[in-house]
This record gives sequence, structure tokens and C-alpha cells, in this order.
Amino acid sequence: MLNVKQLPAKIESIKAYSDKLRVFRLRLSRNDGFSFVPGQFVMLSLPGLVDSNGRKIAKAYSIASSPSEQDVIDLCIVNYPNGVLSTPLFKLNVGDEVIITGPYGMFQLKKPVGNGTVFIAGGTGLAPLIGMLRSLYAEGYKEKLWLFYSVSEPKLFMFREELLRYSKNKGLKLVVSTSNPDSSWSFEKGRVTSTLPKFASEISREVQFYLCGPPEMVTDIIKVLEQLGFKKENIHKEQW
Ligand SMILES: Cc1cc2nc3c(=O)[nH]c(=O)nc-3n(C[C@H](O)[C@H](O)[C@H](O)COP(=O)(O)OP(=O)(O)OC[C@H]3O[C@@H](n4cnc5c(N)ncnc54)[C@H](O)[C@@H]3O)c2cc1C
Repeated sequence: MLNVKQLPAKIESIKAYSDKLRVFRLRLSRNDGFSFVPGQFVMLSLPGLVDSNGRKIAKAYSIASSPSEQDVIDLCIVNYPNGVLSTPLFKLNVGDEVIITGPYGMFQLKKPVGNGTVFIAGGTGLAPLIGMLRSLYAEGYKEKLWLFYSVSEPKLFMFREELLRYSKNKGLKLVVSTSNPDSSWSFEKGRVTSTLPKFASEISREVQFYLCGPPEMVTDIIKVLEQLGFKKENIHKEQW
């Protein structure tokens, strides 16, 4: 908690995957010694945005960037209908100011990161996991890693080019799937609960798992992992 800072940041870029999913790249206007560990999150607020009691509105968002990229924070954000934070945020533009407070959270990699470690993401659950991958590759990690990633529709495949590059050049075993494929979809079909059993024989029973996604998905995946003989104590999760 001692490391927590409250800092202004500017929206440097916005990547829209749909009208409901955007990746915001924030640049800290000053640093004040802000640092984080991959997997952690920040509380995001907007200048002047308060509730009916005048209290500041703030929401948690996992950091998708790597600490190796100084003063930059990537956030992958869903706009829920009438979301108290997300709806006003989606009206902002590049150059506008936001406020971050953090870092927070204990969802972090256990070091050393073993060969064959498995990451499993659903939707924006990719955020903390790509933060971990980016950071490992920035440190020169060379062993095999798995990423199972499910998206609700093809256009919501975030960081597509970057992940395909990792799978080509960095030894990432990328298993992307959707239950709603279109004619151009060349990856897996279905949910992670069906793609995992397909590849389970290639995964050591001793590896660590890092899961992030909606709570129901995380619960279902843990059940499948246990049925496949993986150890509960090796499964680490974040959910929202
Ligand atoms: C540790 C942590 C990390 C998080 N990281 C991320 C992240 O990286 N990206 C991200 O988009 N969110 C993330 N969240 C969720 C985020 O903090 C907000 O809860 C979410 O954005 C909703 O806030 P809002 O202001 O948009 O909507 P609210 O005003 O809170 O809700 C508006 C409407 O949307 C519905 N709603 C809210 N959340 C959900 C949901 N998950 N599924 C379905 N309906 C919902 C509500 O029931 C309500 O009807 C994280 C949460 C936690 C605890």
C-alpha cells in the first residue's frame, strides 16, 4: 500500500475494437515514482466525476502494458450500458485527462516462471495476462508459454498482430477461440472449456496456471482443469 500513488494521465491513444470495447493508452503526466508489477490494477477516475453524494467515482482496471514501457498504462475497457465510469470515459478523446490511483492487487507471477506456464483469458481478462507476457518477453523470456484466449466474437480479438507475432517468434502456444466464428475465422471454435482438453496432453501436470475473466468462466475452467488432473494449488485467478 505504501507504493500507491494518485496521478494525472493523458489519453495518448484509443483503439476501438467495437463501440463497447476499447484499449486506452494512458501516459502519466508526471511519474512521482509510480511503479507496478504485471497483473496489478489501477483505480481509474475522471476529473469532476462524482456520485450523487459528491463522492469521487473510481473503477478498477487491470494494467495491460509492461512495466518496461515507462510512464505508459494500457487499459482494456468494456462500456456497459449506463456505466457510471465507462460511459463518460467513452466520450473522452485523445489528449483528455484522467486520474489513476494505484497500483493494487496480488495477482502476480510466481517467480521463476516455469517452462510451459499457462495463461487463460476470457474477453478483457486478457489485460493482466498480456501485461505479464509483454513483461516476460521484454525481459528476454525464451521458454514455452501457453495462452488460451476466448473472445465472444472475432472482432474482439485484442492485440491480434502482437499475439500472432509472439506465437511466431517467441514460442507462445496461442489457442484463440470463439463460439461465434464468422467465415474468416481461422482459429479454434468454442470456449476454453472445450479447447483446453484438446491440448491437455501437451501440458505438464506441474505447471502454474493464471486465469482471468468473468467469474462463471473462471469457475468452469477450474472445474475442467481439476478433472484433467491439474493441481488446484497451481491455479491463480483474477475475475470481474
Ligand atoms: C481487480 C479488477 C480488475 C478489473 N479490470 C477490468 C478491466 O481490465 N476491464 C474492464 O472492462 N473491467 C474491469 N473490471 C471491472 C470494472 O472495475 C468495472 O466494474 C466495470 O467497468 C463496470 O463499471 P461501469 O462504470 O462501466 O459500470 P457500472 O455503472 O458499475 O454498471 C453499469 C451496468 O453494467 C452492468 N455490469 C457491470 N459490470 C458488469 C460485468 N462484469 N458484466 C456484465 N454486466 C456488468 C451493471 O450490472 C450495470 O447494470 C475490473 C474489476 C476488478 C475488481
